[in-house]
Amino acid sequence: MQGMMQDLYRTDYHVHTERCGHAGGAARDYVLAALSCGLSEIAFTDHVPLYFLPGEDPDPALAMARSELPGYVEEVRALGEEFAGRIDVLLGLEADYAEGHETALQEILAAHDWDVVLGSVHWVKGDWIDAPGSGKRHEREGTEALWGEYYRLLGKAAATGLFDVLTHFDLPKKFGHRMPASLARAEAEAVAAARAAGVAIEVSSAGLRKAVKEEYPAPLLLKSLVAAGVPIVLSSDAHAPAEVAWGRAEIIAAARTAGAREHLSFRKRERRRHPL
Ligand SMILES: [Zn+2]
Ligand SMILES: [Zn+2]
Repeated sequence: MQGMMQDLYRTDYHVHTERCGHAGGAARDYVLAALSCGLSEIAFTDHVPLYFLPGEDPDPALAMARSELPGYVEEVRALGEEFAGRIDVLLGLEADYAEGHETALQEILAAHDWDVVLGSVHWVKGDWIDAPGSGKRHEREGTEALWGEYYRLLGKAAATGLFDVLTHFDLPKKFGHRMPASLARAEAEAVAAARAAGVAIEVSSAGLRKAVKEEYPAPLLLKSLVAAGVPIVLSSDAHAPAEVAWGRAEIIAAARTAGAREHLSFRKRERRRHPL
């Protein structure tokens, strides 16, 4: 009788907007979708401008231009006011971790009043690990080398203390390239880094929509994160209004199977705990 019968606090902690150049739909439509799914809150977490690459708009298909950030913040806050009392709309950011550029990110994070900051490692060995076509890197550069470097960076990202939540913990599997068994230690070190930093992780349905057809993190990895005491948030990584809360039943089931009994929400980067 647990879980299903409770009045659950329903959240989605990873949602994009069309500003990033690879998501569709008006921000307001994401909120309407969240309302129709019965969510208690939705956190907009669009991609941070690519602060670690040169130029005003280094890749319009991957992230908003630097100058667009204030407009994003304004729009999300305005939606928060419009929908107050019906659903909580939170201001978040999916921030890339880029080694050596921590100060630049710190400045961006300090400029606005975020509810939650997600930390993502997408940039590995000077290129994207998850962009269309990135799957070929595994053949060219070696799966082992990419996974090893990815987990090294993820551990460093955790240790910066800049992030509330680490996203898609085992992202390099996206195109179906599973972690080689030889990397088990690197993975364990990333888990230990998350634990030591006190950062949360997301259980994300996005992987279910990709070639790998599995949530992030994988079941055994999620189990070791939960066993280590790393808290979770629930997320869809929606890039379209129809993807809000997508796969929610599956990720809740995965989290419970892994032993999780609660999930987090955030306000002004302060966490709250809710039964799962
Ligand atoms: Zn995206
Ligand atoms: Zn991401």
